[in-house]
Amino acid sequence: MKATELHARPSADFAGRLAHTQALLRQAARDYAPVLPGGPPLVSLACSLGAEDMVLAHLIEAQRLDIGIFVLDTGRLHRETLDLLHRLKAGSRTPLEVFHPQHEAVVAFVQREGADAMYRSIEQRLACCRLRKLEPLERALADKRAWITGLRREQSGARAEVPFIDSSDSRRLKFNPLADWSWGDVWHYIEQHQVPYNALHDQFYPSIGCEPCTRAISLGEDFRAGRWWWEEEAAKECGLHVNKTEGTTA
Ligand code: SF4
Repeated sequence: MKATELHARPSADFAGRLAHTQALLRQAARDYAPVLPGGPPLVSLACSLGAEDMVLAHLIEAQRLDIGIFVLDTGRLHRETLDLLHRLKAGSRTPLEVFHPQHEAVVAFVQREGADAMYRSIEQRLACCRLRKLEPLERALADKRAWITGLRREQSGARAEVPFIDSSDSRRLKFNPLADWSWGDVWHYIEQHQVPYNALHDQFYPSIGCEPCTRAISLGEDFRAGRWWWEEEAAKECGLHVNKTEGTTA
């Protein structure tokens, strides 16, 4: 069954949420416009190619906003995710940047710890995430003064307090324009606007990360139950969204 058929159920105040999201994106584009006309924008969408980020990429495109888009290709993504990346690249007005981990560091880690070290301990898993996600993220954000994510409060207990604008990191502001959207809102937008999405969403993968660390979920399981499923719930973040002030994941 298609994810759109299964999930597209807008909230009663969907129109208001959408208008607020569009306003936040316009604010980000206005406040962090390029220093020189035609220069790189000072704000970018961190696009994981998940359903939420495809909605945001579509909204940025539809409003023709001067906001960059980047993707972290960890080297362990599903074929379906890479297919979607090619589609997004081909259809995007905004130049899409793809950041990869440092080749030598990955080769050394895999030689030392093995390709599937993430299953051995949380430390090994976090080391892999640092190498394949966090270091490339730092490079992607190096010249940015703000960034945009698809975090939603409903996604997990750890994200229940996500603000629309997070100023806890003194280096740059984080916009979370979908913070109050429901899963039904996301799919309603995708259906309404025929937004391309990851084929894995039709196979019961609501949250999609790297191939070795993501599985399909069963009926009744939590939204993020398929991510790092062998770990305790509290550990289930990769560090991309650590709250710098409180030292907790957001
Ligand atoms: S999600 Fe898994 S494969 Fe991807 S970087 Fe983290 S540990 Fe490595």
